[in-house]
Amino acid sequence: MKHGALFIISAPSGAGKTTILKKIMAALPALGFSVSHTTRQARTGEIDGTDYHFVTRSYFQEMLQAQAFLEWAEVHDNFYGTSRKSVTDQLNAGVDVLLDIDVQGARQVRESMEIPSISIFIAPPSLDALRNRLTGRATDSPETIRLRLHNAITEMADMHRYDHIIVNDVLDEAIEMVKAVILAERSRSGRLRSGAPLPVLIEANANDV
Ligand code: ADP
Ligand code: 5GP
Repeated sequence: MKHGALFIISAPSGAGKTTILKKIMAALPALGFSVSHTTRQARTGEIDGTDYHFVTRSYFQEMLQAQAFLEWAEVHDNFYGTSRKSVTDQLNAGVDVLLDIDVQGARQVRESMEIPSISIFIAPPSLDALRNRLTGRATDSPETIRLRLHNAITEMADMHRYDHIIVNDVLDEAIEMVKAVILAERSRSGRLRSGAPLPVLIEANANDV
């Protein structure tokens, strides 16, 4: 059984990453998602264990001490981390895994080289569009929105480190682009799953033609 591939997806808050990932998860088979641990409060509608594992700061510290995180970061005044076990279990089972993490976490995964990854940065078409989306989403206070916009500027400075940059202007086009990156990676010859149907011509003898 082949190992799954690890995809890192980062974006400034409000760029549309969650919207895109939900569509991708529904559209592509054999795609797992790493549910992060966070110390932030759940937003209305978020489900513990599905959107995030919502934990206390002391529990997060315990996981840190136990080196349970593949990567972790403090983002917008809260802690977020990716459980190493959750990722490696899925990859070992041949499932491709999506990591929805910030630029600091992406840098850690890339630099540690513990697990090879393919990274995608989703950018908003402009700062104004980002402000409108954060305001329109109506999940954060004006103060939180200001902090997220402020952080967006430093996050965007990191986008050239990613393998792919996808601008989320027209939503459907951005979804297709992310899907294309994942499908292209799956078609790499070194990644073809055992049992994947290959053209029978490969086994044919040239003299048979
Ligand atoms: P993120 O997960 O990156 O913080 P969300 O997926 O929650 O962002 O999107 C923020 C808001 O922007 C949501 O209200 C979403 O419906 C909206 N949105 C996402 N993509 C687009 C787009 N291409 N054009 C306009 N609005 C969008
Ligand atoms: P939100 O609070 O809006 O869900 O997420 C805020 C930011 O934290 C986003 O940029 C998101 O990608 C990032 N994030 C979510 N989970 C993790 C994680 O496990 N590690 C890191 N480094 N960032 C994360």
